[in-house]
Amino acid sequence: MPERLFVCTPSKLGAYTDCPRRYRYSYVDRPTPQKGPPWAHNSLGASVHTALKNWYATAPDRRDPSIVPALLRATWVSEGYRDSDQQRAVYHRALGWLETYVTGLDPADEPLGVERVVAAKTSVLAFNGRADRIDARVDDDGRPEAVIVDYKTGRSELDADDARGSQALALYAYAAARVFRRPCVRVELHHLPTGTVAAHEHTPESLDRHVGRAEETARDILAAEKAVTAGGDPDEAFPAQPGTLCGWCDFRRVCPAGSAMPAKEPWTAVDRPD
Ligand code: SF4
Repeated sequence: MPERLFVCTPSKLGAYTDCPRRYRYSYVDRPTPQKGPPWAHNSLGASVHTALKNWYATAPDRRDPSIVPALLRATWVSEGYRDSDQQRAVYHRALGWLETYVTGLDPADEPLGVERVVAAKTSVLAFNGRADRIDARVDDDGRPEAVIVDYKTGRSELDADDARGSQALALYAYAAARVFRRPCVRVELHHLPTGTVAAHEHTPESLDRHVGRAEETARDILAAEKAVTAGGDPDEAFPAQPGTLCGWCDFRRVCPAGSAMPAKEPWTAVDRPD
C-alpha cells in the first residue's frame, strides 16, 4: 500500500517542531485537553488581520484611511485583556498602526488573494494554508509574479532572516506558484507596529529546502502516530520539549513538564506603556 499523504498546515508542522507534546495535545488526543484562557495578543492579531481583509473587501473608491475605525470596531476581538482600560489603549494603538499602514497602500490594488487558501502536494505531504495576502506584482524584468505578504502585530521588529527562515511563508510561496501559475519567490513580513517590511527572495533551491524540511517533519509525525497506533507510549512518541515557549502554550496547565515553567498572563504580550 502506498503511504498516505500527510495533510498539514504551517501551524500543524510548527506545533510539532516547537514541541511534539504540544502537537499531540492539539492534533492527536481526543477529546482535546482543556486549553488555558484566550490570549490578548491573539485577539489583537485577529482583529487587525480581519480589518485588513475587510479593507480589500471594500470597493476601491471607498478605500480611504477614514474607514479604518469602522473596520476595526466591527472586527474587534475583546478576549484576553486585563481590563477595559488596557483594551482601550491597545485598540487605539492598533488603530494608529492600521491608519498608517493603509495610507501606504494603493487603493486601486487588487491582490491575487486576501486570506486566500493555497494548497500543494508533494510525494509526502498535502499542504494547505491561508496566506494573509498574495500580491500581483511585476519583477525587476517586468514579468508578472506573486508575492506572499504576512501581517505581523507582535512586539519585535522582524528582519530579512525572519522572512528567509519562515517555513510557513516558503510553503505559501511554493503553493501559490502552482495555484496562480506564475513565479512566487518573494516573501514579506509586514510589521504593523513599526511600519517595516522584512523581505526575502527565495530561489527554487531554497524553497525546495523548506519543502524538504517540512517533509522530514511530516515523516517524523507519521512515525510517532504509527508508534502510538501500534500500542506505544504516547508520552514517548510525542516527548515534551519544555522551554521558554511553555509560558505561552495553551496546554501548560495540563502538561506536567510545562506546568513547572513560569506562566504568562493572557495580556502580557500586549502590556506596555503607550
Ligand atoms: S507546556 Fe511546554 S512542554 Fe508542555 S506541551 Fe506546551 S510547549 Fe510542550
